[in-house]
Amino acid sequence: MAIKYVPEPFRIKMVETIKMTTSEERAEKIKEANYNLFNLRGEDVYIDLLTDSGTNAMSQDQWAGVMRGDEAYAGASSYFKLVNTAKDIFGYEFIQPVHQGRAAEKVLFPTFLKSGQYAISNMFFDTTRAHVILAGARPLDCVVPEAKDPGKRSKFKGNMDVEKMEKLIQEYGPEKIGLVVLTITNNSAGGQPVSMKNAREVAAICKKYNIPLNIDAARYAENAYFIKRDEPECANMSIKDIIKEMFSYADFFTMSAKKDTIVNMGGLIGVKNAVENADMILKIKANCISFEGFTTYGGLSGRDLEALAIGLLEGIDENFLRYRIGQMEYLASRLDDAGIIYQSPVGGHGVFVDASKIFPNIPFNEFPGQVLAIELYKEAGIRSCDIGSYMLGNDPDTNEQLEADFEFTRLAIPRRVYTQAHLDVIADALIAIKERAHEITRGYRITWEPPILRHFQASLEIIED
Ligand SMILES: *Cc1c(COP(=O)(O)O)cnc(C)c1O
Repeated sequence: MAIKYVPEPFRIKMVETIKMTTSEERAEKIKEANYNLFNLRGEDVYIDLLTDSGTNAMSQDQWAGVMRGDEAYAGASSYFKLVNTAKDIFGYEFIQPVHQGRAAEKVLFPTFLKSGQYAISNMFFDTTRAHVILAGARPLDCVVPEAKDPGKRSKFKGNMDVEKMEKLIQEYGPEKIGLVVLTITNNSAGGQPVSMKNAREVAAICKKYNIPLNIDAARYAENAYFIKRDEPECANMSIKDIIKEMFSYADFFTMSAKKDTIVNMGGLIGVKNAVENADMILKIKANCISFEGFTTYGGLSGRDLEALAIGLLEGIDENFLRYRIGQMEYLASRLDDAGIIYQSPVGGHGVFVDASKIFPNIPFNEFPGQVLAIELYKEAGIRSCDIGSYMLGNDPDTNEQLEADFEFTRLAIPRRVYTQAHLDVIADALIAIKERAHEITRGYRITWEPPILRHFQASLEIIED
């Protein structure tokens, strides 16, 4: 039996009509898109679960803030409002706005990483992995083993495997490890949370070997909600206190504000100790001015800074977070009823369906996660994406296709956008595909791909028997 849906802690006062298409139209559209869902036009999608990034619905207060945004080139009041709010939430002394998460990575990572070095993470997100490589270093993933078993329910599957992490540091030599990145929640492992205890342990190892610790903070609020719910030592703390303690363990953070901060564009860099890191802050400012814009706007309009400042507070509201995680749990419970395997327990920003279980005969190099994403579009106009070997791409040194730990199709749920009935359409479509899955025996072949972050742009074709 599906669990009870947590009612929305808001009501709707503006609507956006979405187009209905036929399955014949969709079969044609996805072919024209070279079987890459990023090539579809948004208007040809009924329920868009491609990402929860920048697809959030802003509140009336945020839209009012858009009108109040101060567009001064330097020293805008919206900048100070944002910086003061962020300092208060995270307890960091230096805050730099940038236009999105990967901009934060581009500005910050080259200040740590150089050729011949490594960076360790509980799992790198795709752009984060790319920026490690662009800085000349190599990424090493180090998530706990239970994360790799989607059907196994256990808490905090996003955690760093701290024993393995310490072994890697000793094996490569601490001087070769330029950075440790703790991704909260662990997006690539299915939006799985990282516990407070794990953050503390990771921080202690970093300190022991004198390696800087950066939090990849896109979904810090969802992570804090899971900690409050599932980690007894934090059960009586406020979401804000949990966030402050979590961030106290790291030295820096990079954040895509397009997720938990409930805006459509924005990002942040944080530095905990401004005095100790004065040289680093100068480098951050220099990179920001070259790549993003002057330090008090960082590639954003004043109205974006204002909406971001307001979204920081709305995103950590516990009633909102209960509803938000409740949506995931509702959708997941409908899949439980149908015997569809996903990364469980469900994570914070979407349901990561184990496509290799739906298509057991399709090998990793024919991209089962992409097969299911294409079928979902054809079935009901739902756009999702592969988080598997198709996304992972080729080894940067040998150019051979890598086999991912998972073959997921990610159904990322935008914040405050879709209703319970939309979630039912998604569940019904997955069930229908599962029932006819035996008819699909082959996957896709890549006919063109760029050298890095290929999944955004590649062209594919159906493999015919
Ligand atoms: C989205 C995301 C990023 C990159 O942020 P963008 O705003 O898309 O550039 C980095 N890390 C994680 C964990 C993310 O989810």
